[in-house]
Amino acid sequence: MAKHIADSDFSPVMWEAAFGTGQPLGCIDSPIDSKRTLKLTGVIDRVDVLELNGKKYIKIIDYKTGAVKFDPDALGFGAQLQLTAYLDAIIKNSKDEAEPAGILYFHLDDPIISFAEDSDEKLERDTIKRFKMSGVTLDDENVIKAMDKNIDKWSDIIPVYLSKNGVGARSSVISQEDFKKLRQFVTRKITDAGKDMARGNISARPYKKEKNAETACLFCEYKPICKIDSVTSKSKFNIMTRANLRTIIDSVD
Ligand code: SF4
Repeated sequence: MAKHIADSDFSPVMWEAAFGTGQPLGCIDSPIDSKRTLKLTGVIDRVDVLELNGKKYIKIIDYKTGAVKFDPDALGFGAQLQLTAYLDAIIKNSKDEAEPAGILYFHLDDPIISFAEDSDEKLERDTIKRFKMSGVTLDDENVIKAMDKNIDKWSDIIPVYLSKNGVGARSSVISQEDFKKLRQFVTRKITDAGKDMARGNISARPYKKEKNAETACLFCEYKPICKIDSVTSKSKFNIMTRANLRTIIDSVD
């Protein structure tokens, strides 16, 4: 984590930043009808800021103890809205105009790395690679270089490939306009969820991934007392279909 910060021109400005009623950052308000508003509260693990050429850029980092990766299937389904919602909260609460630079998961881990006795440098490099973040960043070369000052082809820190020819096609990058649409998509998902709850639709319909049949029940602590059964209760699952980030962004008018 210290290396990530040292290798970046971004500065961490907030840790465990709570947003909600009575907090320095306000709630994320999503009107669900003419009378009611869903008020979302939460805690943002870390916010980094960069001032570059007169613009302010925001990077949101969420620490995860499990091996959580940015997953377009989950995003499209509405099960991974958190990072974008946090970004939206920070941008809306910012006194100055601010633009998105990235939304990233950092896996808090204590990895076991195999190494030969005479390869300290390789050990350090392999260890750093295990902490590479997962998510999406802005497709701006200058901002990318500010996120990883040592980037040389594949970054060890962010999911971006940068060479003298520019940003590589397999990089996880989107434009400012795409970030705007992504924020709109997430706001719509949150509003839809609020409308569902307001209608009293709170039935247990856990997700099941089309990709690998994994369900939300896999690590649920209520499983021993819950009546759902992954074999006999097929109709009770809500299928998480395959999605990609481009399709999700393009679904916003
Ligand atoms: S085990 Fe029951 S409570 Fe837990 S996620 Fe599945 S349906 Fe929901």
